[in-house]
Amino acid sequence: MEPISSVNGKVWGTGRHTTVTGVLFSFAIVVAVVTMMVLNALDHVAQKSNVLDDERSRETMSGALQTFAAQLAATLNDYAAWDDAATNVYAADGMPWTISNYGEMSVNSSLFDVAIVIGDDKKPIMAYRDGKPMDGSLDDFFAPSLWALFDRVKAAGTQDIPEATGFVGTQSGIAVVGVALVREKSGALSVPAGRHRYLIFARHLDAHRIDELGTTYVIAGLRKVAPDFAARYFVDIGDAQGKSLGKLIWTPRAPGDIGYSEVRPKVVQALCLVGLFFLVLLIIGWMAGRRLKAEEVNAREDALRDRLSGLLNRDGLRLAVDALVAASTQSKQNVLVLYLDLDGFKEVNDAYGHGTGDQLIRAVAAGLKVLIPDGAVLARIGGDEFAIAFASNDAEAAALQLSEHILDFLAEPLEIGRRVVVIGASIGIAVSAGGTVGREELVRRADLAMYKAKEAGRARMTLYDPAMDADREERNALELDLRMAIEGGDLALAYQPLIDASSHEMTGVEALVRWNRPGHGPVSPEVFIPIAETSGLIEALGLFVLRKACETAKQWPELRISVNVSPGQFRNPAFTDYVRYVLRQTDIAAKRVTLEVTEGYMIQNPQRTRQSIERLKTLGVTIALDDFGSGFSSIGYLRQFGFDRIKIDRSLVMEIQESDSQREMLQATVALARSLDIPVTAEGIETEEQAVIVSLFGCDTLQGYFFGKPMPAEQITERLHEARARKMKSHRTNAA
Ligand code: C2E
Ligand code: CA
Ligand code: CA
Repeated sequence: MEPISSVNGKVWGTGRHTTVTGVLFSFAIVVAVVTMMVLNALDHVAQKSNVLDDERSRETMSGALQTFAAQLAATLNDYAAWDDAATNVYAADGMPWTISNYGEMSVNSSLFDVAIVIGDDKKPIMAYRDGKPMDGSLDDFFAPSLWALFDRVKAAGTQDIPEATGFVGTQSGIAVVGVALVREKSGALSVPAGRHRYLIFARHLDAHRIDELGTTYVIAGLRKVAPDFAARYFVDIGDAQGKSLGKLIWTPRAPGDIGYSEVRPKVVQALCLVGLFFLVLLIIGWMAGRRLKAEEVNAREDALRDRLSGLLNRDGLRLAVDALVAASTQSKQNVLVLYLDLDGFKEVNDAYGHGTGDQLIRAVAAGLKVLIPDGAVLARIGGDEFAIAFASNDAEAAALQLSEHILDFLAEPLEIGRRVVVIGASIGIAVSAGGTVGREELVRRADLAMYKAKEAGRARMTLYDPAMDADREERNALELDLRMAIEGGDLALAYQPLIDASSHEMTGVEALVRWNRPGHGPVSPEVFIPIAETSGLIEALGLFVLRKACETAKQWPELRISVNVSPGQFRNPAFTDYVRYVLRQTDIAAKRVTLEVTEGYMIQNPQRTRQSIERLKTLGVTIALDDFGSGFSSIGYLRQFGFDRIKIDRSLVMEIQESDSQREMLQATVALARSLDIPVTAEGIETEEQAVIVSLFGCDTLQGYFFGKPMPAEQITERLHEARARKMKSHRTNAA
C-alpha cells in the first residue's frame, strides 16, 4: 500500500486532467472559429470579386454586341449611301453592278454574309447569301422583325438617316440586320417614292463569329443559348420588336475563386502557424502549471511527512489510518495500531545533543521500517513517538508479535556515530475489528495503552482494555484535584526521624509529602508523585515541599532536614536557582539541608547529573542517593557523581534476618561505600535486630518505623523536647 500518494493522487490527478482537456478543447474551438471567420471573409471577398468580374464581362459582351451591330451599320452606310449605287441600283441595266458589288461581296466577307436589294413592295430584286443567290422568300428566311426595321427606314423623314439596324432571327440563327435606302452619298435621290430600293445586309452571329468575339474581348467559353436558358450572367439579344432571340453566355473567370484558392492554403498555413504558436504557448503554460501543481502536490505531501525521519507525520498517519479503516469496513479485516514511545530518548538528547538525538530517531525509523509487515504504515508522531498501522486478518496476535520484535530490536544497544546508547520502548496496541472502531478512537486507545505500558515500567507492550478508560478518567480527575491542592497549598508534610546509629539520637528528619484528597481520603505519594511527574505539576509540588520543610526545620536547630527531589525537578537547569532562592527566603543554613535523588535519572544522563550535582553542592547542600539497591547500578559507577551520602533501599534491609545472601550483599555494599568514604543510611528499619545488624555493618544513620513513622511536625517538636529533658536529667545525674 502506498498510503498517502494513492489516497490523494487520485483526487488531484482527475482535476488536472479535466482542466487540460478543457483548455485544449476550447483552444481548438477558438482556432477553428478564427479560421472559419477568416476563410469566410476571404470567401466573401472572392464572391464579390467574382460578381464584379461577371458584371464587367457582361458589360464587355453587351458592348461587343453593339460594336458588332455598329460595324454592320457602318458597312451598310458605306454601301447604301453611295453615288455609284444610287445610279446603278436604280438603272434598268444595273443588275450586274448590283450583283458584283453587293451580292458577290457576301462571300467570305467578315462584314456581311447576306446582301439583298428590295423595292418598296418588299419584293427582292437581288438576294445573295455567302456569294450565291438565295432560294425561297424573304419571309421564310427572316423573322418578321426585319419588316419593323424596314418600316422604320421607309418612314424616315428627310431629317433622319434612312437606315436601321437590329438583331433579327433567321433560318440560320441570329443575325444583325441592317436596312438602308440606296441613295447618293449626300443623301439625295432622284427616284420618286414608291420606286425606292433598299439594301439589306445581314451578318450572322454564328459559332465562328462568337468565337472571334470571345477571342477579341477575352471572354472564355462564349456561346449562344436559347432565350429560356437559365444563367446568372448573360447578354440578351433582342430584336426590333423587343423579342429575345437568344442569350450570350460565357464561362465566368471567377478571379475571386482563383485568388481564394491561391490564398486559402496560405491563410490556413498562417493560421496554423498562429495556432501552433499559441499551442506552444499553451503547452509551456500548461507545463509551468503542471510544475506548480507538482510542487503543490509535493508541498502537500511534505506537509504529511516528518522531515527528520522521512516517515509520515501525525497528519499523514491520520489520513492513512482513515484509509485503512475505510478499506477494512469493506474487507472485514482488522486494523491494528501500535503507539510506540522511546524510553530514554530525552536523556540521550540531553546528554549528547540534538545531533545524536536526530541520528537516533533516524536509526530507529530505519529499524522499524525493516520490522513492520508489508503494506504497514509507519509514522513519527512526536519527538520520540512512533506509530504503526496495518490491516490484518489476525487480531491482537499480529500486533503482539510485531511489538515483541520491536522491543527485542530496541533492547539491543544502538551504535550512533561513535556512541553506543541503550534505549527501549513502551508500546500500546489497539484494534479496530473489521473497521468498527473509527480512526480517532483507535488512535486514542493506542495512545492510552502506550501510557499504561509506560506507567507499568519500561520496555513493555500493553493491549488496550476498556478498563483503562476508567483508569484514565480517574487519573485525570486525580490530576485535577492535585493541581487544585498544590495551588491551594492543601498539601501537608510528615517528618520521619533519622537516627544516629551510635547515639540512637534523632539527628534529622525526612520530609514526606501528604495529601488528603477531598472526598477520597489520604492518597499515597507513590500514587500521586508519578502523576505529578507526567503532568508537569512536579516542579510546583517540589518547590512547595522544599519551602515548607525548610521553614518548618527552622524551629529544630539541632536537626538536619532531608527533602526528596524528583528527576523531573532535577532535569530542570534552573533547579539550582530555585534551591538557592528558597534557602535564602527561609533563611536556613545550607549545610543542614539534604536533597535525596534516585538513581534512575543519573544512569540515563550521567553528564547532566554530574553538572547538576556540582552546582547544587556549591550552595552547600548535601546530596544523597536515595533507594540505593532497588536499581541496577553499582556504587563504583555512582561514585563519579560525588554523592555525599547513600540511602540503602528498604528492600535490601527487609530480608537481612531471613536471607544470608541478602545480609552479605548489604554488608558488602555498606563496606564498599565506607571504603569510598561515603556515609550510609539504612531505610526501612522495622525491628531492633535490623537496627543492630545495619549498625554493625557500618550504617551511621537509621530510618524506619522502628524509630518512628512519618509524623506531623508537632510530634517531632515533642520528641525534641523529650530528648532535651532526657539530656538535662542525665547531665544532672552525672553531675550528682
Ligand atoms: P522514600 O523517599 O524512599 O521515602 C520513604 C518511604 O518509605 C516513605 O513512604 C515512608 O513512609 C516509607 N517508610 C519509612 N520507614 C519505613 C518502614 O520501616 N517500613 C515501611 N514499610 N515503610 C517505611 P511514603 O511517605 O509513602 O513515600 C513514598 C515515596 O514517595 C518516597 O520514598 C518518595 O520517593 C516519594 N515521596 C514522598 N514525599 C515526596 C516529596 O515530597 N517529593 C518527592 N519528590 N517524592 C516524595
Ligand atoms: Ca527519600
Ligand atoms: Ca528511600
